[in-house]
Amino acid sequence: MKTMQQLLLLLTAASSAGGIPLSRAPPSNKLLLVSFDGFRWDYDQDVDTPHLDQLGRDGVKAKYITPPMLTMTSPSHFTTVSGRWVEDHEVVHNMMFDAKTNLKVSHRETLTRSEWWDNGVLPLWITAQNQGLKTGSFYFPGGAANYSGQAVNRVVVEDPKPPNETEWRQNIDTVMSWFSDEDFHLVTLYYGEPDRVGHAKGPDHQDRKTIIRQIDRTIGYLREAIARHQLNDSLNVIITSDHGMTTVKKRPQVEELVLNKYLNLLKLASFEILDYGGFGILTPRPGKEQEVFNALSKAPNLTVYKKNELPESFHLAKSERLPPIVVVADLGFNLNSRLIFYVNKGDHGFHNGEMDMKTIFRAFGPDFKKNFVSEPFDSIHIYPLMCKVLQIEPAPHNGSLAVTQNLLHSGGGQRAPRSVCLLLSLLSLLCTFTLL
Ligand SMILES: [Zn+2]
Repeated sequence: MKTMQQLLLLLTAASSAGGIPLSRAPPSNKLLLVSFDGFRWDYDQDVDTPHLDQLGRDGVKAKYITPPMLTMTSPSHFTTVSGRWVEDHEVVHNMMFDAKTNLKVSHRETLTRSEWWDNGVLPLWITAQNQGLKTGSFYFPGGAANYSGQAVNRVVVEDPKPPNETEWRQNIDTVMSWFSDEDFHLVTLYYGEPDRVGHAKGPDHQDRKTIIRQIDRTIGYLREAIARHQLNDSLNVIITSDHGMTTVKKRPQVEELVLNKYLNLLKLASFEILDYGGFGILTPRPGKEQEVFNALSKAPNLTVYKKNELPESFHLAKSERLPPIVVVADLGFNLNSRLIFYVNKGDHGFHNGEMDMKTIFRAFGPDFKKNFVSEPFDSIHIYPLMCKVLQIEPAPHNGSLAVTQNLLHSGGGQRAPRSVCLLLSLLSLLCTFTLL
């Protein structure tokens, strides 16, 4: 018995020296990831946003961040939660499609279609769950799918309706109770604004500014709710988005694009997704690839690529799902196929180097620095940062913690790995049991 007491003392001394509490694995801090869809990087600069401004003082603000190519909701969100380029995770459009069967499924319907999302890349929810954490997804794109047969612990599927500030607050209350009453570690929360108003009215419209004020009040409410649930010391929050927004160029200011003027789509293509903003895809009929490429090369205000010649910086060329021809319109141009029936006043999907496609990143909580302005970075580096905050081993990814680690204060995310803590806790329990 004496030997066991000595062992326990030794373990206590050893763990204290390493700064690791012996009795129980220290719980990692919790993480809330919030996405406001289509929040362009500068949307807070022409509107009074006291709560976002306060976040800047209480946490971290990046000047802007760059989404992956392509700058579309599902592909970009899945890069954020997986740290993988679009060519690797293969969520290559908002619409699920099959070029062989001509199947096209709307974005909303894809949300519960695992076959669109689950291509061998594990998103953060599943990786965290596999390491003992409890996770939830509220409306977040990709959260309602199964990955290798595994579902996210708690899922609320998006139910698109007009933006209702009361409901936005209720959603926050729900998520806060997951953290405080049910001990969730990671929750992702999604809002469909300001994307919706950006499309409908354009990024410069007064209604966009009204929604930004609503978002700002919602962030104020979030901070109150965190305090009310006594989560100030344990909950880290990242607020980000998936892409920006630009004004769609219309007649008579510009000549709008109609691709059928340059090639007979019916004759030359067996599959297409056009009329969907600035990003288009086509499958040429057998033997017609060069003809399609040549014809589109003559069209103004767009760039046509053969898939295998896509610039490396797009990280799209390896995709098996993308058809052989990819078209990227110049900023603000819609890729109309045959007729101009496109009604959006604003859109995204353009080159991620365009400033109008850049988006926001804010973070605050116990692990983040205060009053810190970060240089711009690519959204792919959010994933390893989230793993660091949650103290989990990341799945293979294309991000780099070296890019985002400076957002954490010294000691932020520096606790001993979960596995070491668990081992010490087990040893401690064993000693206690033997002494009894
Ligand atoms: Zn979006």
